Amino acid sequence: MARQQLIAGNWKMNGTRDALAFFQDIAPAAAASTSEILICPPATLVAAGAAACANSPVKIGGQDCHSETSGAHTGDISAVMLRDAGAEFVILGHSERRADHGESSALVARKAKAALEAGLVPVICVGESETERREGRAEALVAEQLAGSLPEASGEDYVIAYEPVWAIGTGLTASAEDIQAMHAFIRGRLEQGEATRLLYGGSVKPGNAAEIFSLPDVDGGLIGGASLKAEDFAAIINNTTV
Ligand code: PEP
Repeated sequence: MARQQLIAGNWKMNGTRDALAFFQDIAPAAAASTSEILICPPATLVAAGAAACANSPVKIGGQDCHSETSGAHTGDISAVMLRDAGAEFVILGHSERRADHGESSALVARKAKAALEAGLVPVICVGESETERREGRAEALVAEQLAGSLPEASGEDYVIAYEPVWAIGTGLTASAEDIQAMHAFIRGRLEQGEATRLLYGGSVKPGNAAEIFSLPDVDGGLIGGASLKAEDFAAIINNTTV
């Protein structure tokens, strides 16, 4: 079965309502694309983003969710709430959440289960640090994160994003050989490997997206910095779908 490419933007903690013009600006590229296009704005813009995309193929996602549906968790947002606000996907286990909030793989797995139960597609992030790669432990670390972070039930629709931590927001990108090798490794470890979409993330930009996304085991990308400018994100969409 052919896997549809997914091009996903992660706005992180960026954007207020004036950023919503972005959706109009990328609409022509999204409409002409054969890829699925996803933007994960901050939680404050999920509902407004979903409304702005009501007549376009662009989908909206959250950047995190709680593992419970509701309750005494001040400041948190559940998967059900994200779905209710119009989200269809949710990023989970991003390295910034693992680092800033001490999120363990076990917690990510519980969040992924909650997301699936709420009808969201989890985008589960894994990736090694610079030290782990230098010491030849990249595959072992990614295997460990995968084993711990995936939701229990098999046959579920989730996406994996391989994001080497040292490549996120640094301008450094893993080589095409290393990306393909890690993606093939990840695919081989998944129960439904051939059906699961694997995204690459780490300083993807208009100049390198087409090459990265043409690798056989890469099914699109998770894009941070370059998803903040409509022109750059549209160029990534255009380059990878012609
Ligand atoms: C990310 O936030 O997941 C990411 C890959 O960021 P950047 O594209 O800026 O490296």
